[in-house]
Amino acid sequence: MCRIHAVAFSREDRLSLETYFSALADLFYPQFCVGCGSRASDVLCRSCFDNLPHVGSPRCARCGHPTAFEAFVCDECKDVDFAFETARAPLRYEGVGKEIIHALKYRGYFPVVEKIMAPMMEFVIEENSFDFVVPVPMHSSRRRKRGFNQAEVMARSVSRKINRPVSDKLEVVRRVRDQVELTAAGRRDNVRGAFRHTGRIGGKVLLVDDVFTTGSTMSECAETLRLAGASEVHAISFCRTC
Ligand SMILES: [Zn+2]
Ligand SMILES: [Zn+2]
Repeated sequence: MCRIHAVAFSREDRLSLETYFSALADLFYPQFCVGCGSRASDVLCRSCFDNLPHVGSPRCARCGHPTAFEAFVCDECKDVDFAFETARAPLRYEGVGKEIIHALKYRGYFPVVEKIMAPMMEFVIEENSFDFVVPVPMHSSRRRKRGFNQAEVMARSVSRKINRPVSDKLEVVRRVRDQVELTAAGRRDNVRGAFRHTGRIGGKVLLVDDVFTTGSTMSECAETLRLAGASEVHAISFCRTC
């Protein structure tokens, strides 16, 4: 006859079991997903990876805004005078896309750059043979506070992927207000004359930023790059707000 023993774990047993399972979890799920915070085998769990907010296609060939049909220009950009030729972003600035940006920007979690950002950005770049990769610069006071410029970290990673050099000759002249609370016109005024170049940046340039909102920062940078000798400027960001 089979007797069932009630197994009573002591507190010490429970602790050692927890340690054991935690060590096991570390082995299979060594980190936390930046999208939802659950244990994951990589920087994103499978569910968050499946929920990445892709911009997809069709999209406007000029500004990258999602459209109903393939279009050379769209309603969003037909009246806007951009100094760059094209703008692209793989994701919308929401959900997991926003969490990835925040992981880098506010928590300095760099693995997301090599593992998610740069590969996804490279995937949506339609041009090739760039002469330089240029990050949207950050004012020195803000950079000191944060410790890094996220656009520069992203630009360096993209530059390694496409094997083109980074130019650091684009600089901020003055500190600009945070663009978040400004209207489109306010954003353009806010960044007008905010950048300068410290040397020649000729040829075809890939301009990198974290988030594309109205394009006013990218456009102002592109205008300065043209003054520096660039013949074409293509903008790439990880997310766009629409
Ligand atoms: Zn997740
Ligand atoms: Zn457009």
